[in-house]
Amino acid sequence: ALVDFYCELGDVYMADYPKFDPERHLTKDVVRRAVIPGSAGRKGVGDVVTSRSCAYSSKMMNDSITYPLKMVTHTWGALFRDLVAIVVTDALGEREFKPFGQLLDRNPAALKEMLQFSGMSQTRYWICAFSVCQHASICGGNPHGDRDSVSGEVHGICDCGLPKAFNSTEPLHPQKQESISCEINKFSDMMKFVAANDSMFEQVIAVDSSFSIFSRAWCIAELAEAHQMHMRQNLVVPSQADLQEHGDTLRHIRVEDMEATRPADKEMILAGIKDKGAFNASMQALLTGKDGLLDAFNQSLDTLETLKVVGRIARQRRVSELLS
Ligand SMILES: [Zn+2]
Repeated sequence: ALVDFYCELGDVYMADYPKFDPERHLTKDVVRRAVIPGSAGRKGVGDVVTSRSCAYSSKMMNDSITYPLKMVTHTWGALFRDLVAIVVTDALGEREFKPFGQLLDRNPAALKEMLQFSGMSQTRYWICAFSVCQHASICGGNPHGDRDSVSGEVHGICDCGLPKAFNSTEPLHPQKQESISCEINKFSDMMKFVAANDSMFEQVIAVDSSFSIFSRAWCIAELAEAHQMHMRQNLVVPSQADLQEHGDTLRHIRVEDMEATRPADKEMILAGIKDKGAFNASMQALLTGKDGLLDAFNQSLDTLETLKVVGRIARQRRVSELLS
């Protein structure tokens, strides 16, 4: 469904100027211009509601309620194509997404065929941009004046009128003092809940081309959270060479250097970490230490290489043929 959605960009959604540009439009542009309008409630004749505002995933899944098998930790400030390519790459059991990103634009039909052939085309991923109802929070406002990455025009807002719930919206949880109805303060509850019910629940760490994920406060908080819960964590990166190049930055990662769109979020995240020195040391170890995520990444490439999975070689050959 995600690849189909991607293929509709520039046609069903984001067809007007500035038309969807895979090289320049970021996830946040796609949320404003495709995810939100595509999941807004509609009224028919005589103002009768024909569809409710919902999370885009509800629309994709025909309102059926299912558990995700994996969650994707990603940043809205990265190319949307990277995000889709990362999910496809992970579904195919691969770790380097560059060639699959190129295929998405040049031959999505071939990519869909590969996914079907792998048997993983229906794997369910939780992706905040799709799985959170944007109409219950951000759709009706644009307080930071977010602009289209191509035209620089300020993004419009949605007038669906669905009641909004932010972190301070009453009623508040008596102990946590956080809004009960708000969805966006419950990422860690969602992770705990799904992980408690499914020991195979995995986190996919979407390392976009600019490696911006490692400078986002929310993403780092999610990484630490998943590690604490002993969830399996997998990196998907542009290429192994790119990862090596950024190794030094990751070795010196510090939570104090992270950014968040809302300064209040950064404060909240920092306030939640009592010993920042210890947190930084454990993040650095998680990423670049022995048996850390980088190590595991290199090992998984080695394993894929050594196993010489039959289908994998055929697929690699097909990908390079299609891209040549
Ligand atoms: Zn709305």
